Amino acid sequence: MTPDAERPTPVVVQKYGGTSVATGERILAIADRIEQNLPHTPRLVVVLSAMGSTTDELVSLANQVSNRPIGREMDLLLSTGEQVTVSLLGLALQNRDIAAVSLTALQCGIRTDGVFNLARIRSIDTARICAELTAGRVVIVTGFQGINDSNDVTTLGRGGSDITGAALAAALGAEACEICTDVDGVFSADPTRVPGARLWPEISYEEATEMASSGAQVLHPRAAEICREYGVLIHVRSSFHLREGTWIRESGSIMERAEVVSVTSDSKIAKITLLDVADKPGLAARVFEDLARAGINIRLIIQSASSEHQGRITFIPELEFLDGVRVLVRRWEAEGLASRGVIESDVAKISIVGSRLASTPGLAARMFAALAREGINIDCISSSEMKVACVIAGDRLDAATRAVHREFFPEDEAAAASA
Ligand code: ADP
Ligand code: ASP
Ligand code: MG
Repeated sequence: MTPDAERPTPVVVQKYGGTSVATGERILAIADRIEQNLPHTPRLVVVLSAMGSTTDELVSLANQVSNRPIGREMDLLLSTGEQVTVSLLGLALQNRDIAAVSLTALQCGIRTDGVFNLARIRSIDTARICAELTAGRVVIVTGFQGINDSNDVTTLGRGGSDITGAALAAALGAEACEICTDVDGVFSADPTRVPGARLWPEISYEEATEMASSGAQVLHPRAAEICREYGVLIHVRSSFHLREGTWIRESGSIMERAEVVSVTSDSKIAKITLLDVADKPGLAARVFEDLARAGINIRLIIQSASSEHQGRITFIPELEFLDGVRVLVRRWEAEGLASRGVIESDVAKISIVGSRLASTPGLAARMFAALAREGINIDCISSSEMKVACVIAGDRLDAATRAVHREFFPEDEAAAASA
């Protein structure tokens, strides 16, 4: 036998997001797509999100009945959305005489730590999935959920189905993890906000992680991290056609990379400023330990130099954690850690991301100048090796994104305008 013939057929993992499974018709379209491709993907694992805005609706139902909808019960509730979609797709495939089985996290051994609402996958026991694949079935898995050591359902955080897809692809030794979504791939800006955004055929894991953590929703940052660690390619592509999208891989290309890969906008943030924090060791540690203990994700931290032994600490949490932040801010005020905590939710963040940012002088200045020409005030700035981020007024985000994108991608913008 030749080595090729000995090699088992690789597993393909495809993850479909909420918009792609939003209605019965769309689920049928996914079933069509799977059926057409089955000769090329005989060992297929499909990971699904909940239908459309189901998870948001479950969150708002929980808010109707509780002031603190968190923890075990919340995860049991949120995980139901994905169970609906996997069973519907299983029924749709079986209705076409395609052998298929839908599995929850418990049934296919996705083990996580015990952190409800933001769990991390620890291990996946692939025995059941492998047995189903060997029996010739398409395996359909609930995204976003896992189980802890007590077999309680946990969830991986919003957008977490991407993480399930990546972790399964890594555990099953898949060649690639396909992230099938409602846009054609990864663009130089959110294509729903910026019509002239450029579709990238390829970006690096690092760029993808940085883009995703600066707010580009198209991929969860932890999915990019997992695939990088296990050497799994990611293919972000449309659910609605079979054209290639964006490949995410190690940056092996000898070609010069683009100066800026993405202009990322993020409206789902808040800004907290703690005023008159004493200038002594341990206070910043205390603030961020409290936030970490409460499971609150922070996107940016800005501490300005102190004057007269008093400083201020500004941080940018994700908007969904604002209630938890409010509780802590009131506590810090009561304890005198800060004279006041100012909470602003009408803010947004715009970032430029690229692996050449640190080595190319002047990119930050070009970003600030583009904002200035638009008359947009920059509230705070933060920068790192691969990113420059500015906090601005929430209602200027669209104008800011277009202006900064125009600065770095003038030809694409011109082509879109003349089309
Ligand atoms: P899914 O439900 O498939 O997981 P998401 O809504 O989580 O999809 O992510 C896809 C969305 O990400 C797109 O509809 C688009 O609006 C947004 N997006 C933001 N930034 C980008 C980008 N740079 N490239 C592509 N899509 C982006
Ligand atoms: N349904 C979950 C959410 O809306 C997970 C996902 O779609 O990735 O966040
Ligand atoms: Mg998503």
